Amino acid sequence: MKLNLKHTFTKELPADSVLENYRRQVKEACYSYVTPKQTKAPELIHVSNEMAQTLGIKEADLSTKLFTNVVTGNELLPGTKPYAMCYGGHQFGHWAGQLGDGRAINVFEVEHDNKQWTVQLKGAGETPYSRNADGLAVLRSSIREYLCSEAMFHLGIPTTRALSLALSGDEVLRDMLYDGNQAYEKGAIVSRVSPSFLRFGSYEIFAARQDHKTLKTLVDYTIKHHFSYLGLPSKETYIQFFAEVSQRSLEMILHWQRVGFVHGVMNTDNMSILGLTIDYGPYGWLEGFDFNWTPNTTDSQHKRYRYGNQPNIGLWNLYQLANALYPLIEETQPLEDILETYKTDFESKSLQMMKCKIGLEAVDDKDHLLIQALEDNLLLTETDMTIFFRNLSNFKKGDSKKGLEIIKDAFYTPNEVSDMIAQQWRDWFERYDLRLEKESLSDEERQLKMNAVNPKYVLRNYMAQLAIDDANKGDYKLIDELFHVLKKPYEEQPKYNKWFAKRPDWARHKVGCSMLSCSS
Ligand code: AMP
Ligand code: MG
Repeated sequence: MKLNLKHTFTKELPADSVLENYRRQVKEACYSYVTPKQTKAPELIHVSNEMAQTLGIKEADLSTKLFTNVVTGNELLPGTKPYAMCYGGHQFGHWAGQLGDGRAINVFEVEHDNKQWTVQLKGAGETPYSRNADGLAVLRSSIREYLCSEAMFHLGIPTTRALSLALSGDEVLRDMLYDGNQAYEKGAIVSRVSPSFLRFGSYEIFAARQDHKTLKTLVDYTIKHHFSYLGLPSKETYIQFFAEVSQRSLEMILHWQRVGFVHGVMNTDNMSILGLTIDYGPYGWLEGFDFNWTPNTTDSQHKRYRYGNQPNIGLWNLYQLANALYPLIEETQPLEDILETYKTDFESKSLQMMKCKIGLEAVDDKDHLLIQALEDNLLLTETDMTIFFRNLSNFKKGDSKKGLEIIKDAFYTPNEVSDMIAQQWRDWFERYDLRLEKESLSDEERQLKMNAVNPKYVLRNYMAQLAIDDANKGDYKLIDELFHVLKKPYEEQPKYNKWFAKRPDWARHKVGCSMLSCSS
């Protein structure tokens, strides 16, 4: 395997001077060198050929023992020195101190086509940051990360990527529901890829420790390698840097809202400094449209990370980042202005996003009311978000009477739709139809545009669970099928129509489908 390896992170940033692998507080360092765990019987389950190509890995390399060994941590590429990153974070609203890569190990950095990538193994064994956990990952959560991160990429949503999914051959003990029932599960390793895995928490940790020297070194490094267009380090550049991170984070969250993705654990250690979706844990996809929904049972009481709260949490997290960067800027006003801009931008951009979803382009100062009414209606009876918006594109101008018929498939209990609910929908379609008169697009043109922002296929929670159930029995065909369907989420793909369907009833309350814990 011939790769254009780089070592910028380890060359330019301070390393932990301790080389032994035991749990500790790591000070004045951005990472610790660590060797991945040897696993019993590494076995490749799936590879993203496209991702391999992006890294400059040849197709012939993918079937070699070396490749399997490298992506499971059993062998190192010559000259590489794996490391785990130090970071902290606010978890569920509280400062949690040092966290760090407890089970993720960066194995190499590579430059290809003028782009810089880091490859990281999730589940590759203990590190100084493992705290009281084992450094491992189970097959179910690895499948979920592998499939979802690639699906998000193909939806056009900023995200870390995945290169491979492999079994480690080891067993991993987990209490999946945190109810005292431990069981062994298959261990697995995802190799994931990103230009950088730095998080908000990577900066917060140095601010919390008042280590402003390392904070500055890390911020300067980040700007040099990932925001070089902002120019050389200065107070002004740091402010611009924060503005960029704020804007990127907002864009990312707006995409999540558009497709009904709920991250589940938006702690600041799970917020990428590049504005990428990162750390796929107890995430989920809205089935019934519901602002209050969260898939994460660990958060079921307060629902801090519910669908409708994601934009607010993004802002809250940015406040924490602003506090962390403050020592380099020493002025609050510019940071507050940026946070204020997030709020106003969010208002205008989410309106714009919703307008796109229903095919409106012209300016009309009452559009927010039409959209408000739509959201109210979507809550009247359990209504599948994906099917609703996709089917709405079949609406024809001047045919408001057909509206309800067109979207009826999205109702989970169509027989229980009362006359009152039906009437509210008919009223809405009349308003919508009237509003469409202001638009110049034909029905066909509008449909094309709507279908480009309303995916037909998303990784519904039960789909991932079906793939997991099969994989636990050694059958990986469904992983491959879903991987391929989700590569073209906006296309019709009639042969995969069975995945354009409401969640089946058996999945309503099934663990893994509607209930997920952080145990992974
Ligand atoms: P998460 O909530 O998954 O983002 O994880 C929060 C922190 O816990 C991060 O520092 C993780 O690296 C760490 N962590 C999660 N699971 C494990 C594990 N099985 N072993 C070691 N560290 C873990
Ligand atoms: Mg995390």
